Amino acid sequence: MQAKQTVPVYGHYINGEWRTSAETMPVLNKYTGEELARIGKASREEVREAVTNALETFRRVKLSPVRRYEILTRAAELCRERKEELALTMVREVGKVLKDARAEVDRGIQTLIASAEEAKRIAGEGIPLGQPGSENKLAFTIRVPVGVIGAITPFNFPFNLTVHKLGPAIAAGNTVVLKPAELTPLIACKLVDILSEAGLPAGVVNLVNGLGPETGQYLLEDERIAMFTFTGSPGVGRHIKSTTGIRKVTLELGNNSPNIVHKDAPDLDRAAELCVTRGFSNAGQACISVQRVYVHREIYDLFVEKAVGVARSLKVGNPEEPDTDVGPMITEKEAMRAEAWIQEALAQGAKAVCGGKREGAVLEPTILTGVKPDMKVMCQEVFAPVISIVPYDDIDEAFREANDSRFGLQVGLFTSNLQLAMRAAHELEFGGVIINDVSTYRADVMPYGGVKDSGIGKEGPRYAIEEMTDERIVVINL
Ligand code: NAD
Repeated sequence: MQAKQTVPVYGHYINGEWRTSAETMPVLNKYTGEELARIGKASREEVREAVTNALETFRRVKLSPVRRYEILTRAAELCRERKEELALTMVREVGKVLKDARAEVDRGIQTLIASAEEAKRIAGEGIPLGQPGSENKLAFTIRVPVGVIGAITPFNFPFNLTVHKLGPAIAAGNTVVLKPAELTPLIACKLVDILSEAGLPAGVVNLVNGLGPETGQYLLEDERIAMFTFTGSPGVGRHIKSTTGIRKVTLELGNNSPNIVHKDAPDLDRAAELCVTRGFSNAGQACISVQRVYVHREIYDLFVEKAVGVARSLKVGNPEEPDTDVGPMITEKEAMRAEAWIQEALAQGAKAVCGGKREGAVLEPTILTGVKPDMKVMCQEVFAPVISIVPYDDIDEAFREANDSRFGLQVGLFTSNLQLAMRAAHELEFGGVIINDVSTYRADVMPYGGVKDSGIGKEGPRYAIEEMTDERIVVINL
């Protein structure tokens, strides 16, 4: 970190040290607008230097699985010790409410621990060569690290999602060049310092700050990077896939998450509370936020009443106050975009049963009814505290509407019927089907990733390690 001006300045982290950057840009407090820090804008040359360093380190530094385990475990301990500081960093740079920021630090710690544990379990398999001519051959596979990984992360969960990339990459023996989201880079800068303090050798993780179409693009164009792991918007994901040719990519993209509340839902109060709170947490800016809620007509009016009750009980505003539930969106521009989508839906016949108003970057938690499938709030990823509740008569209709999306990350279904639950598991076209909880449920150890425009490849340390290693066959002539 450069100590310049009155705010901290983070340039680029290359070979274990912070480098100054010729050009810098501000990182703002998303609630107050105050300048929190400045970050560098990495040039093509600086990105090249980071990749050179990562490649040299990959070839030179070989950490044993136990050493990787120790470093990641130590990093988890350091994060626990610095939990409040890390949480406050996110409260300010993301606008994330304090309780969600604390919860994200806790999850990131678990992701580090899970990555540490998986470092010890990377294994291939014995391959029986049961064919004539191979009688005296012994064959098995080993899993080897892919090399240098380019990691590009989004603004919304800048701690845990960065850990989901760095943890498995380190556990698998790779080196990394990370480009964090330019709107929320500070927590990632702190994380690389923590990894270094935990004993990670210089050069294993490098970080370049800057804008996506500049610094991010330079990274994509460096052919020495063996694999890209990206979490972010579908448009950028598509661009990454088309730019990186035959190199490996995992893409964790968006969703317009459907949740179905059937008439036999075991606990309607709980279903309403989960749909509302998980639609509005992180100001709706989660890839698996509840967005479309399909409710059986027999319980529809009651559900809407309960949902509105929960929404009205939420405290909206300053994310630094410990009891705030919904804070600002990432920028005023994004809040205006979501407000415009609401206005458009209202003009086309929808009704706001609560919320709808905006003040700066803070958009009131909004529940819409009377929506149609082709409204933007339904068919696109709203990424704001806005949910729509839609009645259905027949479960087939609900399944059809849930599946009628270009996305397929996760879906929720509330029902007491085991047969229906199993039918959903087979017929709903998503990476994850969550029964009796909402689409937003995620345990960090589970395989996580979507189908269709929601992406390719899985995260969750064990599954990310599979993506971040190559399977190599070894044949021994006996
Ligand atoms: P974004 O796509 O705008 O940015 C993500 C990252 O990509 C940033 O670091 C950005 O600088 C970089 N980038 C932008 N243009 C680039 C380019 N041309 N080349 C290389 N890098 C480039 O996304 P965002 O607004 O930060 O995040 C919101 C999106 O992320 C939503 O669509 C959300 O659903 C998705 N998301 C998905 C998951 C998941 O696990 N599936 C999790 C969180 C967020």
